[in-house]
Amino acid sequence: MIAISPGTSRIAARARAVDALAASGIETAALDARILVEEALGVTATDLALRGAEPVGEAGAERLASYLARRAGGEPVARIIGAWEFWGLTFGLSPDTLVPRPDTETLVEAALGLGLPADGPHRLADLGTGSGCILVALLTEWPRARGLGLDRSHGALLTARANAVRNGVSDRAAFAAGDWAASLAGPFDVVVANPPYIASEVVDGLDGEVRDHDPRLALDGGPDGLDAYRAILAQVPRLLAPGGRLVVEIGYDQEEALRELAAAHGLATASRRDLAGHPRVVAMT
Ligand code: GLN
Repeated sequence: MIAISPGTSRIAARARAVDALAASGIETAALDARILVEEALGVTATDLALRGAEPVGEAGAERLASYLARRAGGEPVARIIGAWEFWGLTFGLSPDTLVPRPDTETLVEAALGLGLPADGPHRLADLGTGSGCILVALLTEWPRARGLGLDRSHGALLTARANAVRNGVSDRAAFAAGDWAASLAGPFDVVVANPPYIASEVVDGLDGEVRDHDPRLALDGGPDGLDAYRAILAQVPRLLAPGGRLVVEIGYDQEEALRELAAAHGLATASRRDLAGHPRVVAMT
């Protein structure tokens, strides 16, 4: 148990939080402590900077102690606070949704880089929408676009809908249950997907923070990790409007495999690299 005494200053509580997480072997102790302190005490970074000497109340101290214990036990910060930032927007999470990853912003960039006019009435579909992060981000960038988020998980759909409301795009977003594109009627100008793409046997060996806290459905791409792409490519080409594009996130070593799958469906590909320099997104047309 990491005790935080009520009455200690906010700054002292934060210092204690950093020390406690570092002592538990958390490499991002300073960043994690800052986020957890702000959330537990209901304060902003500015409050901490300008009013750091104010005392922590009893409820805040208790909440912080419980958050720190969970973090020290390996639970990701995003799961503890139930929300995460993506594309500068905040997304609520549930056990049914993947935590949005910074790499996935590469997919949003790739879609925005397709050359569609920003004010066009684009028709979008997001397959395996999860938290809805990709669809919602694109709808905020394309103010006249409309989009459909599809997911097999009803829990995820509820979360995605709430995230569309929270980020002001719910009048242009619809959500439906479905298995990839099997139930969809097109045409769509842009279909995006960040499907599960990790080979089943690799999933078990993933870092515990991912394996034990992200939904397996969101990670496991079947024996070779490519099942979802096969299912999508079997359906999506018929759903694309003339000139329409399919844009998918891939694992760092899957570019060649995707090129071959796309070619088998008569689609040309272009890929985009993430910040680490790995091919991360493939656009097909
Ligand atoms: N589309 C969601 C995301 O990118 C969910 C993806 C998934 O669960 N594989 O975060």
